[in-house]
Amino acid sequence: MPRLVVVSNRLADPRKTAAGGLAVALADVLNNTGGLWFGWSGKIVEASAGGKAGEGELHSTQAGAVKLVTLDLSREDHDAYYVGYSNGVLWPVCHYRLDLADFDAGYIAGYRRVNQLFARKLKPMLREDDIIWIHDYHLIPLAAELRALGCSQRIGFFLHIPLPPPLILAAIPGHDWLIRALFAYDLVGFQSEADHSHFCSYVQTEAHAQNLGEGRWRAFNRTVQAGAFPIGIDVEEFTALAEAPEGREMYERMRREYSRRKLLVGVDRLDYSKGLPHRMRAFREMLQKYPETHNSATLIQIASPSREDVSAYNDILHELESLCGSINGNFGELDWMPVRYMHRTVARTRLPGLYRASRVALVTPLRDGMNLVAKEFLAAQDPQDPGVLVLSRFAGAAEQLREALLVNPYDIEGTANAIHLALQMPIEERRSRHQSLISTIKEYDVHWWCDGFLDTLAKAKAEETGTPWLRL
Ligand code: UDP
Repeated sequence: MPRLVVVSNRLADPRKTAAGGLAVALADVLNNTGGLWFGWSGKIVEASAGGKAGEGELHSTQAGAVKLVTLDLSREDHDAYYVGYSNGVLWPVCHYRLDLADFDAGYIAGYRRVNQLFARKLKPMLREDDIIWIHDYHLIPLAAELRALGCSQRIGFFLHIPLPPPLILAAIPGHDWLIRALFAYDLVGFQSEADHSHFCSYVQTEAHAQNLGEGRWRAFNRTVQAGAFPIGIDVEEFTALAEAPEGREMYERMRREYSRRKLLVGVDRLDYSKGLPHRMRAFREMLQKYPETHNSATLIQIASPSREDVSAYNDILHELESLCGSINGNFGELDWMPVRYMHRTVARTRLPGLYRASRVALVTPLRDGMNLVAKEFLAAQDPQDPGVLVLSRFAGAAEQLREALLVNPYDIEGTANAIHLALQMPIEERRSRHQSLISTIKEYDVHWWCDGFLDTLAKAKAEETGTPWLRL
C-alpha cells in the first residue's frame, strides 16, 4: 500500500480527542500506511536585528505510526501568506464577502513564497510512490510548486471552504493563476455540488477547458478530475463522546439549570460568515412576534475566538455584544435572560452534552463550506426525544440535510418563524426528521469521505500531454 502524505496549514495530534473527527479519520489512514503529515508549526520567527528571519526550520515528532513534520515561518511570510492572502483575500471572497477583502498587492507574492517553501522542504521527504493529499485554501498552488521541482506523484486537493461563482472568484487578483494551479493536481474535491458546478463553469468560460466527461477537464496541457466529496463527522466517535463522563456531566448540568425552559444552542467560531448578528435579529424578532416564548426559551450562543488579528473580526464581536445586550435589556426579566452569550471555546468533549440538552440548534451561516456543528448536533441527540436543526440553506450541509428546517438567514422574519416552529414541533415530527437525518450522516460519515476521496484519487492519474508543465 503506498504511503499517504497529508499536507495542511496546521496539524493536529491524531492521538488526542481535541483534534476532532477529521484528524481521527486521517489518522486512521495515515496509521495504516505509516504516513507523514506536514504543515506549519504555528511558530513565527522574528527577524534578527538588521537581518531576515531564518525561515523553514523543521520539527519532527512521531505520533504512533504517523510522522508529524512542521516548519516555522518568518513574520513577513506569515503576515502575507496567512493573515494577508489566505484570510484577508481568499476567505472573504470564497464566502461571497468582496466588501471585506483586502486586495493588497504584496500578499500574493508572500502566499506564493510560502507555497514554494513548503514544496522545497517537503520534496526531500517524499518517496516515488507516495500519494499526496493537500488540504485547503492556504495551499492551492502547492502541487504546481511540487511539479515544478519534478515531483510526479499522485496529488489530490480538497477545498474545505466554498468556491464562489466565476464572477465573484474573478474579483481575486491572480484568480486565473489560482485556478490554473488546480490543474497540477490529479483530483480536486469540493464540499458540495454547488461548489463543484462553480468550478466547472469557471474552467469552461474563463479557461476554455475541454470537458472530457465523468468530471475530467483538460486545460494547460494537463487533465484534472474534479468532484463533490461532502465531508462528514465520525458519528460513532461523537455519539460515544455524548455518553462519556464529561458529555454526561454537561448534559445533566444543563438539564438541571434549564429544567423549566427549552434551550436553543448556537456554536460557532466568531466569524462574519456565520451570520451571528442575523441570527440574533431573528431570535429578537421571534420574541417580539410570539410573546408566549418569553420566559420559556433561552438561547445559549458560544462564539469561540478566531483570527483576532484580522480587523473584520473585531467589528463582528462588537455588533454581537451589542445585540445580545439589547435583547437581554429589552426582553429579560429578573429570573430570565433570553440570551447567554459566551466569547469562549467550549471543549469538544463537553459539546455533545450541551447539544443533547438543547431542543433547537441554530446553524444559520450566510455561507459555509459544510458546517460540522450541524452534523454533530444531530449525532448527539437522544433518538427518542431529539432536538430540531434550523439550518441555513447557504451551508454546504443543506445539500444533504434536507429534513432540517431550512432557512434563508437574510430573511429575518422567515427565520424567526422557523425558530418558533422548531420550538413547537411535536415529538413524532421531531423523531421522523431526526431518523432521516441521522441515517444520512451515518451513511456519509468522515470515513466515507476519506475513503471515497482516496479511492477516486488512486484511479485518477492525470495524463500529461507531450508539452512540459506550464510554470506559474
Ligand atoms: N468547536 C469546538 N468548540 C467550540 C466551537 C467549535 O470544539 O467552542 C468545534 C465544533 O465542534 C466543530 C468545529 O469546531 O467540530 C467547527 O467546525 P465547523 O465546520 O462547524 O465550522 P468552521 O469553524 O470549520 O468554520
